[in-house]
Amino acid sequence: MERTLIILKPDAVQRGLVGQIVSRFEQKGIQIAGAKFMKISQQTAETHYGPHKGKPFYEGLVKFMTSSPVLVLALEGKDVITISRNMMGATFGSKAAPGTIRGDFGVSNSFNLIHGSDSPEAAEKELKLFFKPDELLEWKPAVGVWVYDYAKGAPE
Ligand code: UDP
Ligand code: MG
Repeated sequence: MERTLIILKPDAVQRGLVGQIVSRFEQKGIQIAGAKFMKISQQTAETHYGPHKGKPFYEGLVKFMTSSPVLVLALEGKDVITISRNMMGATFGSKAAPGTIRGDFGVSNSFNLIHGSDSPEAAEKELKLFFKPDELLEWKPAVGVWVYDYAKGAPE
């Protein structure tokens, strides 16, 4: 099982879309390992988006992400990094395909509702930035044996 860092951005919270977006992950069979409703500090935003420093949208992005509360999630599942990126859709709301979170809920290219780690390396770094180890919970969902096929031992 793999974990990823998801942020429901200020626009998702302000527009009352948090429940619907979290529902999509639950319905998919993805497990919540951690959750935190918080206002992101300037320093945390700068660290999180450090790889984008110097790009034309960087300053506005940091301002947006620190402007209002967000819901930060640690999600868990097999291939959850790729699966959740696919569920999010393309970066720009104007381009994201219908059926994806960004495609269904927004039109803006910068206010695009959701962040998701884009690689195992990024996920590890980002999870550490937002969660202490004891804030990530190991638990067995009652329906786990119906979400994955465990006939061969490992989840399929
Ligand atoms: N962004 C923007 N303008 C751009 C590119 C990105 O405002 O031209 C913002 C947008 O909110 C995006 C974030 O910066 O989600 C990070 O960009 P990235 O390319 O990493 O996209 P993502 O991984 O979020 O799809
Ligand atoms: Mg990115």
